[in-house]
Amino acid sequence: MTDTINIRSDSYKKPKLRKIGVFTSGGDAPGMNAAIRAVTRTALANKLKVIGIRRGYQGMIEGDFMPLRSSDVSGIIQLGGTILKTARSKEFRTPEGRQKAWLQLQNAGIDAVVVIGGDGSFTGALTMSQEYNVSFIGIPGTIDNDMYGTDYTIGYETALNSVVCAVDKIRDTAVSHGRIFIVEVMGREAGLLALNSGIACGAEVILIPESKEQHEALKRFLEKGYKSRERSGIIIVAEGDEPGGALKISEEVRRDHPELDVRVSILGHIQRGGSPTANDRINATRMGVAAIDALLDDQKSIMIGLDNGKIVQVPLNKAVKLNHSFNGELLQIQKLLNI
Ligand code: ATP
Repeated sequence: MTDTINIRSDSYKKPKLRKIGVFTSGGDAPGMNAAIRAVTRTALANKLKVIGIRRGYQGMIEGDFMPLRSSDVSGIIQLGGTILKTARSKEFRTPEGRQKAWLQLQNAGIDAVVVIGGDGSFTGALTMSQEYNVSFIGIPGTIDNDMYGTDYTIGYETALNSVVCAVDKIRDTAVSHGRIFIVEVMGREAGLLALNSGIACGAEVILIPESKEQHEALKRFLEKGYKSRERSGIIIVAEGDEPGGALKISEEVRRDHPELDVRVSILGHIQRGGSPTANDRINATRMGVAAIDALLDDQKSIMIGLDNGKIVQVPLNKAVKLNHSFNGELLQIQKLLNI
């Protein structure tokens, strides 16, 4: 693992590496464009040709490629979404699909690829790199912040702020009407977005897949806490929480407490969109530069990560197989503050 990066000078030339591909895959995340820009311009500064692969692995299979010049990535750093578009490709999960994708890369003369996405996208990259001689470098771009080996994934901070803004508004109406709001936040397998947004909004209860104990906290709140307070409350639920998302939980709460005025708000896709925060732009830019630096250093099958603010390289097989550690301290803090 290295923890420093060296930006290559324009004079640096590596005969083997001539043309790279870059693409975004899986769910879009704010800051992906900043990463595309950094990858493109760093590669161009090092005399590499850059091909943008549109629509993720599906576009790779179909040869949906576009050359990227510096001007093509101008004015995109502040944009949410991804100019290269993204997709979920079933075909790429098959050996036949990956063979088609490899032939397209060969035909286009692409020597190495930077993939910006989540663990599914990195699993696909790892599988293909084991079958064919393609160098993949991963940049973690997902609003879930659930990747092993990095403290940070592109888009998480913007999504967190979007959730906090939305819940603050919901709080106003919850207090005015004396209602309980059950707010569902994205996170099928990871509750970090729910946990941190809950802390930032002073949620009375936070339900996340990583902790089953929280259902007891919900019962306690409804039986005691709610009555002793101002008769309103915010319950944040990660969509992947057992036994189900906000709708399921609201049914249970209404059944057990018919006296309560309970409303549900599913925040949905507004969490993915919007202009990236400054940190998302800065970190995406650092990671984009580091991805090209890694390729110039002949690295393959690694993910660029951030560890305590420093750029690190994490083997892709570790990034996809190991779980992001869960910080139980935040849940303790939430309990402590909800007396
Ligand atoms: P997010 O965290 O936002 O969901 P992700 O990268 O995890 O992002 P996925 O939909 O899981 O999103 O994966 C993106 C694409 O990667 C899939 O549509 C598929 O084409 C490819 N992929 C995922 N898993 C595999 C796999 N096991 N083998 C081959 N390809 C895969």
